[in-house]
Amino acid sequence: DANIYLFVRVARLGARYVLVLAEDRTESYRLDEVRRDFVANISHELKTPIGAVSLLAEAMAEASDDAVQVRKFAKRLTKESERLTRITREIIELSRLQAADVLTKPDLVDIDHVVAIAIDQNRVAADSRRVNLVSGGDAGAEVYGDEPLLAVALHNLVANAIQYSAKGSRVGVGVSHEDGIVEIAVTDQGVGIPEEDLDRVFERFYRIDPARSRHTGGSGLGLSIVKHVVQNHGGDVRVWSQPGSGSTFTIRLPEASSASAASLGEEQ
Ligand code: ADP
Repeated sequence: DANIYLFVRVARLGARYVLVLAEDRTESYRLDEVRRDFVANISHELKTPIGAVSLLAEAMAEASDDAVQVRKFAKRLTKESERLTRITREIIELSRLQAADVLTKPDLVDIDHVVAIAIDQNRVAADSRRVNLVSGGDAGAEVYGDEPLLAVALHNLVANAIQYSAKGSRVGVGVSHEDGIVEIAVTDQGVGIPEEDLDRVFERFYRIDPARSRHTGGSGLGLSIVKHVVQNHGGDVRVWSQPGSGSTFTIRLPEASSASAASLGEEQ
């Protein structure tokens, strides 16, 4: 949207002059709009699991004589409440990021360490899905930023790569740095992403196949968190994909130098 919002003040200075002060408020209008959309999406997103929880509770009360049924409903209740917990956690992370106060004091972060954290956190999931999770490090790749947030971002990419992979396939995490850019690539051999969805997967709550993602407990927030974290670090995230063959998500961040530390500080 190409609208520009100006806040204009006019003051008369004597008989011959008029002082006009114009302030560009486009960004704050845009942020208001983003916030409104976000709240609408959250409400929509929470309604489904909350509705399911109350229906399941009712069903459980009615089936109280039938132990098998009760166990079945209890299992589904657990699933729905896990889903609620996950969505809530992701919403909190996202709103913390949107408050944009997270990088006031960027630290020097060793990217190899961030990769090690993300691999560690996903090891169990990879093993249980029989996915071969491998990483190639790059000692010396450093950026300025927030290590826990970068770990969340990479965790989300690795978790997706495993989630959308077939048994026995490979997920690789590679790091390289060149010309002042640190690149982290997460590659899978999974289902891939149709071309028409490539631009949209980073949007909040966007899922390619809601039925499948809901089944896997997805909220559609994971990649928008990745995008926010990476942008807050002055970087970008891109995706290449071939439906049926796999996907590669690449995070690119400015390599640590005194200049990058200063400019991150300024933005906040
Ligand atoms: P979700 O919680 O649903 O996984 P994300 O924001 O992490 O939400 O991802 C959005 C959608 O992008 C997912 O629902 C999925 O359809 C698709 N997607 C993300 N990563 C991959 C991947 N590595 N391979 C295939 N599809 C993916």
